[in-house]
Amino acid sequence: PLVSRESQENTQIRLRNVTIGGGQFVTFAGPGVIESQAQLMACAQQVKEHGAAVLRGALYPPQLNLDNNLPNQGQTLQLLREAGLRYELPFVTEVHQPDQVAEVARQADLLQIGARNMQNLELLQEVGRTHRPVILKRGLMASLDELLQAAETIMAQGNRQVILCERGIRTFEGAARQTLDLGAIPALKSMTHLPVIVDPTHAISDINQLAPLTYASRAAGADGIIVDIHPQPDTALSDGKTLSFEQFSNLMSGLSA
Ligand code: PEP
Repeated sequence: PLVSRESQENTQIRLRNVTIGGGQFVTFAGPGVIESQAQLMACAQQVKEHGAAVLRGALYPPQLNLDNNLPNQGQTLQLLREAGLRYELPFVTEVHQPDQVAEVARQADLLQIGARNMQNLELLQEVGRTHRPVILKRGLMASLDELLQAAETIMAQGNRQVILCERGIRTFEGAARQTLDLGAIPALKSMTHLPVIVDPTHAISDINQLAPLTYASRAAGADGIIVDIHPQPDTALSDGKTLSFEQFSNLMSGLSA
C-alpha cells in the first residue's frame, strides 16, 4: 500500500517556509468558524505573533444552516486569502463536498477533510485529484486501519501529500467530549510514513485539558497540533473548546520553553 511505512521515507510536506513531518512541531491555529473579517484578522495576527505556522478557519458547514449572516464559501476564501497575505501565513480550510474541492484547492494552501467525512469516497477521490496537501481527520468511530484506507484512497488518485489527524474517538468515557487517542500517534508512526498531527480542540470538554494533551501529543511523537482560537471564546461558533488569545499565548510559550 502507498501509505505503508515500508513504501518510502517519511513524507515531508513543504508550505512556504514550514515543513510538516520534518521533525519540527508545527502549530495550526485560527477560528473554528470564520464569523467576520475582524474576527479572522484578529486571530491571524495572534497566529503570526506567537509563531504558529498555519492559519486555520472553516466555512460554517452549509448543511447546518444556522446563521445566514455568516460569510459564504466565496467570501470565506477571500477573507482567508487577505489574512494569509497580510500575515504571510499559509492557510487551511475544510471541504465538505466534492463540488467545492476545485475552487478551494485553487485558493487554499491546504485542504481539510472533517472527521465525519473520513469515509466520503467521492470527496476523498476528488481531493486525491488535486495537488494540494490535505489534513485527513480520523472519523469518530474509525480504526487506524480505516483511517489509513481513507488516506490510501486519496493517494491512489495521485495526491501523496496527506497529513493524518487524530481528533478524538467515541468511547464509553464521558469525561471528555471524545477520547483523544494518544496511542494512535506512535501506532500510526509505526504503520505509515505520513505526518501525524493532533486536534485537541474537538476532543476535550474543558479548555484546561488542552495544554496537557498538546504537550503529551508532542511527547508521543506528533508532528504538530491544530487548535481553535477566538477573541471571545464564549461566543465562538466552533463546536470545540476554543482558546482565548491569552491561553493561546501561554500555550505557545509553553511549547517553546
Ligand atoms: C474542525 O476541525 O473544524 C472540525 C469540525 O473538526 P472535526 O471534523 O474533527 O469534528
